[in-house]
Amino acid sequence: MTARVLIVDDIRANVKLLQARLEAEYFDVLTASNGYDALEICRTNRVDVVLLDVMMPGIDGFEVCRALKAAPETLNIPVVMVTALDQASDKIQGLDCGADDFLTKPVDDIALVTRVKSLARLKMLNDEMLMRVTTSRQMGLSDDDTLARILKDGPGRVLVVDDHPRSSVRVMSALAKAHEAVLEMDPHAALMRLAEQPFDLVVVALSLQHSDGLRLCSQVRSLDRTRHLPILLMADSGEEARLLRALDLGINDYLMRPVDRAELLARVKTQIKRKRFSDYLRNQIRESVELSITDPLTGLHNRRYMERHLKTLIADAERTGRSLSVLMTDIDHFKQVNDTYGHDAGDLVLKEFADRFRRYTRGVDMACRLGGEEFLIIMHDADKALARQVGERVRECVAAVPFQIGPGVEISVTASVGLATWEGEGDTSEALFKRADNALYVAKRQGRNQVVADAA
Ligand code: GH3
Ligand code: MG
Ligand code: MG
Repeated sequence: MTARVLIVDDIRANVKLLQARLEAEYFDVLTASNGYDALEICRTNRVDVVLLDVMMPGIDGFEVCRALKAAPETLNIPVVMVTALDQASDKIQGLDCGADDFLTKPVDDIALVTRVKSLARLKMLNDEMLMRVTTSRQMGLSDDDTLARILKDGPGRVLVVDDHPRSSVRVMSALAKAHEAVLEMDPHAALMRLAEQPFDLVVVALSLQHSDGLRLCSQVRSLDRTRHLPILLMADSGEEARLLRALDLGINDYLMRPVDRAELLARVKTQIKRKRFSDYLRNQIRESVELSITDPLTGLHNRRYMERHLKTLIADAERTGRSLSVLMTDIDHFKQVNDTYGHDAGDLVLKEFADRFRRYTRGVDMACRLGGEEFLIIMHDADKALARQVGERVRECVAAVPFQIGPGVEISVTASVGLATWEGEGDTSEALFKRADNALYVAKRQGRNQVVADAA
């Protein structure tokens, strides 16, 4: 995903500096030199994150932030306030205006990229959630209660792992105002607790006095139960090298000590929200009780739901200019499986096939069973190159490992994939679907077990 960042600052040199750093990380950058232009750009363009200078002539950053958060069409764009001085009052005022995070000038490179990435990911999940709400409503299904609960920033359960007396008291007292926070000094005990009880976030001190916070982060990432738990790290200045290792291990965000309360609360809020969105998306298929939208054999979405959702996604793509691709997949010579091993064996292959789909695609991609042994993956925010990679991965995950259809009975299965990418304004879901179908036909004709893209 290429996230689009809007930089708003009245001083040209500041804009240039941030722009160069973000472009080096392959972000797409828009710029504005005053609050009015910033509001106009957010209203008329797709913007994933706004970096907003506080002190500007005309309307200042606080007012811009308040205006963005007051309008339904810009409400979900994450805003990072860039404050000139490390002033607590600025941050508190920023939180009151609805700011999602803060950066202090001069802006640190690691902080800039980490914050923007974290918020861009949140924005993407947020958009996806809103579109699923739209589709569900159009189909007359309303899972509105669950969705409303998730979209609202309710209190979360946070585990703090810190054995530093002063720092832990400070963190716990700040969190207690908005969340249910539990303190654990010992990382082993913390890990046990995380494995046994539900938490929305773990806040870990990088340097524990008696052990290593980095090891705990790596353990959290490798345990099944905690793999998706967000980690917010607290580091001390001078620990930059270890902080980089922690980011490589997959921590989600960090704070420098002494911890600023407003920053802590903003980042905790963002991480909890992100966790709730991704849990929802991940569990949506598994937990879906709506038989009308799922296929009973595989548990994937059915064709009716897919057709509706594809229309919602195309409407979004038209509005935001985001890309969209679909992969149509068909099992090769599936009739032979039925003929040779029986219909039940065929069903087992279909189920296992669907499971592999789920494992090898992202949470935001939607897999559907069109019918028989034909499947479709809708990839939101994926251009042709990314779709081809995923198509190749799907083909490979089928062909590489045999399917077990009984005790000790394994058979090789392959699948062909046809790929089509939305071509912009005027391209319809029917046309997109048709191109994927044609590409699949070519893949079959060329010998099967391959990925073919539409000609466009
Ligand atoms: P190709 O490589 O050209 O796709 O050949 P194929 O044999 O896979 O395609 P064909 O369309 O000729 O056969 C599909 C078969 O899938 C026929 C049908 O009996 C079987 N099938 C459809 N739905 C189900 C199902 O739910 N369970 C089982 N076991 N088989 C199914
Ligand atoms: Mg087939
Ligand atoms: Mg077929």
